Amino acid sequence: MKKLEYIWLDGYKPEPNLRSKVKVTDSSPPDWSFDGSSTQQAEGGSSDCILRPVNEYTGPRNSDKLVMCEVLSPDKNPHPSNTRNACVDLVTDDWWFGFEQEFFFINPEDGTILGWEDGTPRPQGEYYCSVGSRNVRAREVSEAHMDACLEAGIQITGTNAEVALGQWEYCVLGKGIKAADDLWVSRYLLHLICEEYGVSVNLHPKPQKGDWNGSGMHANFSNSEMRDSGTEDLMKAMCDKLGEVHEEGISNYGSDNDMRLTGAHETQDINTFSYGVSDRGASIRIPIYTVENNWHGYLEDRRPASNADPYKIISHIVGTLTK
Ligand code: MG
Repeated sequence: MKKLEYIWLDGYKPEPNLRSKVKVTDSSPPDWSFDGSSTQQAEGGSSDCILRPVNEYTGPRNSDKLVMCEVLSPDKNPHPSNTRNACVDLVTDDWWFGFEQEFFFINPEDGTILGWEDGTPRPQGEYYCSVGSRNVRAREVSEAHMDACLEAGIQITGTNAEVALGQWEYCVLGKGIKAADDLWVSRYLLHLICEEYGVSVNLHPKPQKGDWNGSGMHANFSNSEMRDSGTEDLMKAMCDKLGEVHEEGISNYGSDNDMRLTGAHETQDINTFSYGVSDRGASIRIPIYTVENNWHGYLEDRRPASNADPYKIISHIVGTLTK
């Protein structure tokens, strides 16, 4: 018999939570059901929603597999909370995404950011990519998470301590819809591993007001045209196209993002759209790698917040650029 850990997104707004339950079976993952009235996905009178497996990963600890699922209504149509369904119709594996997930480690009891127990720490400056107990918290959790992702088959491409004390980042690279599935499963693993260490995760884009960095989820993207035959004109035309629907983009890039996109802390103001080479104060950065590689490469949309739904990010970017 195998232990299959089914994972899905609930119906909470503005951002869904991750849910899971374990099925013990000797067959390959079948459709399964759950009580949607307990996840804001159904009324109590007709509460069954359906879990449809869409991707499988090697499981951590004692489970054999993690099974990422889409939620269907009882009539087998995509549930209104199912943002993956629209995404999967748009994106092909020709599109590659690198998500830079930033977050804070917090105390699960009172929500205090790790390192902030005795009040406000020394100002930002020495924490980014630092080493030493005065500057870093919970490195062992970040490392355990990285290992769990790699074991699961998720292509983590790096991690680093971030600009604020208690803040970390990891990067995930993926192709097509799997990029977004992987990001959700990587978040699931992060929450799970934090349970073991007695810490928790805060994905809010600005957990600490003031002169402290917020958390984003920069979305690097490319398709084969950009990678193999990109030009300055192509890259700039893509930026312009995304700029034309800037407000729509922001509406898909996570809640409370106005608290983070202020024009300070390596962000552009939420009401302004701009792009530029190597410009970390722009909405979209054209990486120097792309320019020096004869404009063959990728772009970095710096607007998405740390709490954004990657299905919505991909739908917006690919939907806009393939129109
Ligand atoms: Mg970062």
